[in-house]
Amino acid sequence: MLQPVAVGSKILTDYTHIVGRELIAEIRELAEPLQGARVAHISATAFGGGVAEILYTLVPLMKDVGLDVEWQILYGREEFFNVTKLMHNALQGAPDDLTDEQWDIWQKYNEINAAELHDGWDVCLVHDPQPAGLLALVPEKARSWVWRCHIDLSTPNPSTIDRLLPYIRDYPESLFHMETYVPDGLRGTVNVVPPAIDPLAPKNMALSPDDAAFVCNQFGIDVDRPLMCQVSRFDPWKDPLGVIDAYRLVKEEMPSVQLALVGSMASDDPEGWDFYNATVAHADGDPDIFILNNFNNVGSIEVNAFQSQSDVVVQKSTREGFGLTVSEALWKGRPFVGGDVGGIPLQVENGISGYLVDTPERCAARCLDILQDPALGKALGRRGKEHVRKHFLTPRYLRDYLKIFSEQLGVGVHAEQARVEDDAA
Ligand code: UDP
Repeated sequence: MLQPVAVGSKILTDYTHIVGRELIAEIRELAEPLQGARVAHISATAFGGGVAEILYTLVPLMKDVGLDVEWQILYGREEFFNVTKLMHNALQGAPDDLTDEQWDIWQKYNEINAAELHDGWDVCLVHDPQPAGLLALVPEKARSWVWRCHIDLSTPNPSTIDRLLPYIRDYPESLFHMETYVPDGLRGTVNVVPPAIDPLAPKNMALSPDDAAFVCNQFGIDVDRPLMCQVSRFDPWKDPLGVIDAYRLVKEEMPSVQLALVGSMASDDPEGWDFYNATVAHADGDPDIFILNNFNNVGSIEVNAFQSQSDVVVQKSTREGFGLTVSEALWKGRPFVGGDVGGIPLQVENGISGYLVDTPERCAARCLDILQDPALGKALGRRGKEHVRKHFLTPRYLRDYLKIFSEQLGVGVHAEQARVEDDAA
């Protein structure tokens, strides 16, 4: 019932020329005492959104360094995903809390999945709130438990977070993208660790300008005219309607501009289609707006091509847990304009490696600055890429997880240090 995901293979040494020998050596050293450790990642979907994106890289790399890792997807019917989407929205600050009946549905599916989970794990790594009930239900099935929160919990609906807290507070380790996302009342160790992108995945590997143009051309884009683009799920927090408004303002000054809104539909996001239709309606038949999704055959290479081809990449979110799309754009050296919210300012220094904005008007003004001055765009993009190289590529993220596993399992230098400190105390 818990569905295993086949992830293919990746090799850590392939990343050496990108992130440097030192980090690769540090990872090997950390992995040494963890050889054969059994790690389960549990998440809600294997397709769509940032969590799936991350795990397709992290899981094979954890295997490559010697851990025995599996990634499993929760079993759930539509009633469960309707509830978890509502919970996701409430935890990011939406006013509607779940009813008692909806909480019962969440609990019921956690119980079903808890019963299915095999035992004997060294670490069970639970992603996001959907499976967060597992620890409370079957603590004996793993030696240690980690809760990885991928969403913005800075201003949650108070009743929703209160009701979730008893399920998340006892995880021995939890991870958040930012300090401001950490809720009060956690009893375990809290780690502030942002995620990362895979520079060697088809979505991010170097694509020549000709190849990017070739792919975009097949979707009807005129590759000789300027292109703005936002890549993200069709979700109100991503504000695709605001992006269209900004594009219209840009178009008043620069009539040749085009806009691509590229958005995958996630299997655990039942609201997606409604909002997709609302976005299409807002575009009002404008032939220079291209609204595409994975049902139009837009996969990783196509996303790569759109990001690489864009003269400016936008991520005008009004809430954003982290926003992998931001690092994806910067890694391609693209000039970037995005919402000044959540994880976006972690990735972009305003005025140095992109621009942070909070209204469609400011978004349009900054896009125009870039579109009218290609040298400015180039300089922003170059600095953005170096920032991502230092902070937001998967090997750094892998290292952070290995440190946490070492502490939890009591192996390696971290455990040694902790024992010495304990003895001294
Ligand atoms: N994505 C994609 N195709 C799309 C739209 C999005 O592959 O049509 C990917 C995008 O490239 C990124 C991930 O989905 O890797 C979205 O992650 P992010 O953290 O930006 O947002 P989330 O969806 O997790 O809120």
